[in-house]
Amino acid sequence: MSKEILKQLNKLYKHVEYYNKMAPFPPFCTEWQQNIRDKINEIKMEKKDYDKEPVFACKHCGTLVVPNQYEVDDDGNEICMRCGSVNEAIEYKNIFEYNKEQKIKPKY
Ligand SMILES: [Zn+2]
Repeated sequence: MSKEILKQLNKLYKHVEYYNKMAPFPPFCTEWQQNIRDKINEIKMEKKDYDKEPVFACKHCGTLVVPNQYEVDDDGNEICMRCGSVNEAIEYKNIFEYNKEQKIKPKY
């Protein structure tokens, strides 16, 4: 249950964690790193099958939108934590459709 979404989120988390550890200054927001960790734990605790749930991903870098990943500015614009693009999230029916349809593969 929720196997595929966890696989994708763990990949994203490892990538963010690695670069935040290696670089003298964390290139990614450490709060975002924590949000991804929290989301993974939340999915593990819930009985719900998250593999059947819709997912959102950034159109430009292909990064999955973890709730709270997008930082909303004062005008309500959503900013991608990875590439900084604004209001560019697309919805997929589920994680499998994301894997299949996604044009740009995230680099991790
Ligand atoms: Zn992005």
